[in-house]
Amino acid sequence: MALWVQKYGGTSMGSPERIGHVADKIATTRAAGHQIAVVVSAMSGETNRLLALAHEVSHRPDLRELDQMIATGEQVSIALLAMALKERGVPARSYIGSQVAVRTDQARGRARILSIDTERLAADCHAGTVPVVAGFQGVDEDGNITTLGRGGSDTSAVALATALKADECQIYTDVDGVYTTDPRVEPRARRLATVTFEEMLEMASLGSKVLQIRSVEFAGKYHIPLRVLSSFKDGPGTLITLEEHKMMEDAVISGIAFDRNEAQLTVTGVPDKPGIAAAILGPIGAANIEVDMIVQNVSSDGSTDFTFTVAQTDCERSMEIVEPVAKRLGAKGTHAVTDIVKVSVVGVGMRSHPGIAAKVFEVLAREGINIRMISTSEIKISVVIEDKYLELAVRSLHKALGLETPANPR
Ligand code: ASP
Ligand code: MG
Repeated sequence: MALWVQKYGGTSMGSPERIGHVADKIATTRAAGHQIAVVVSAMSGETNRLLALAHEVSHRPDLRELDQMIATGEQVSIALLAMALKERGVPARSYIGSQVAVRTDQARGRARILSIDTERLAADCHAGTVPVVAGFQGVDEDGNITTLGRGGSDTSAVALATALKADECQIYTDVDGVYTTDPRVEPRARRLATVTFEEMLEMASLGSKVLQIRSVEFAGKYHIPLRVLSSFKDGPGTLITLEEHKMMEDAVISGIAFDRNEAQLTVTGVPDKPGIAAAILGPIGAANIEVDMIVQNVSSDGSTDFTFTVAQTDCERSMEIVEPVAKRLGAKGTHAVTDIVKVSVVGVGMRSHPGIAAKVFEVLAREGINIRMISTSEIKISVVIEDKYLELAVRSLHKALGLETPANPR
């Protein structure tokens, strides 16, 4: 008999019919002899609706009151699901974060979980009652309701699975797993049977928004097997796990991620001398803008170009910061390019297969795609290219790296 924490997201909880369907699924799993604790999100659209409401009465809503309010979306869904379960003869009990208690720090709107009391929940599971816990929320040391940041119920579920020492944390969502790439770009994308925590973190930070990144970090840290499944379609989903449990068929490369939200800034003709990187990137960092890739070449004539990327949404602000700095440094000019994308090939197998980078460059060259920037890590190769080549790059890499069919050819 296993203990599973199951999390149902907003779309799975999107209507009374869907909540009924979730209750049916839980009833079936329980009838098969498993213990289940459930975490749910607000019904889809609800958190956005509440946020909009707050902004109608205040242009900068007080953060304590905002947490107090947006946490209510989950309070509605736990009660509805518990009712639906009882309707089906399944003993259930709903809990908001403070009733559990899920204790967090005081960072409003982005609180971190400090501890979870498991007594009541464990007793429920033991007695065959299904505890239904509100995701996304907790309580601070002064009794204030806190929330964990958008998408935070994934993290609630993993934290609960850790605290309850569950055998698996299962995230039910509207996709049936993690894919080798976005199926909207490459219809031949394949669902991965397994992916490692590390790979998932790379893919998530590169824009595959299946899970909140923090939940993957959390699960990786505590070695909680995390499974992504569809609440609408039966299947094994994708297991996110340790490298030693990765299946052979998912061996070398796990996937191709891409990010359209990239902008490239270049300061041309900067003098090649110590302190340039600090002078340019210091103020960017101070403005809380995250810099992704950085390229600076050695100079042959005493001056060089300095290029870096930021999120497109930060481009204008970055230009405003960099332009005066460039002038002060005596640089030739500054320009920004936004019609670019970052494409990344991710896989732990790269550590032992050094040929992957060469293959990536070869494929792009064959397709006539110019690479504007490159960056690599132990398990990732990223290139920045013109955005009109995104589909071509993803599809040709997907094919050349053998991602269409299980077991990548080396
Ligand atoms: N309801 C919250 C949100 O929309 C938390 C979640 O869905 O995970 O962000
Ligand atoms: Mg979500």
